[in-house]
Amino acid sequence: MSQPATPYDCGRAQDELDAFVRGELPLGEAERMQVHLDRCGHCASVARYEQAFRERLRRVQDSCDCCPDTLRKRIEQLLQRHPPDAGDP
Ligand SMILES: [Zn+2]
Repeated sequence: MSQPATPYDCGRAQDELDAFVRGELPLGEAERMQVHLDRCGHCASVARYEQAFRERLRRVQDSCDCCPDTLRKRIEQLLQRHPPDAGDP
């Protein structure tokens, strides 16, 4: 009765890679993504790149004392007023 999970194909993997790297994929989906990444060197290297990029970005943000709190708050307010994908149908 147990069906083996179908791994993602490359197109699906690329689509979901962003969510995967952010840790936003549901557990089952993340497992399927991991299976694909184990098999597909191309997608694995893209995933590694994205992960390294995000990590570096986070480190820069943590150690950033160049932008004052007021500016950061203004950016947060702007983002709340204009959510990036509010226009999607
Ligand atoms: Zn692939």
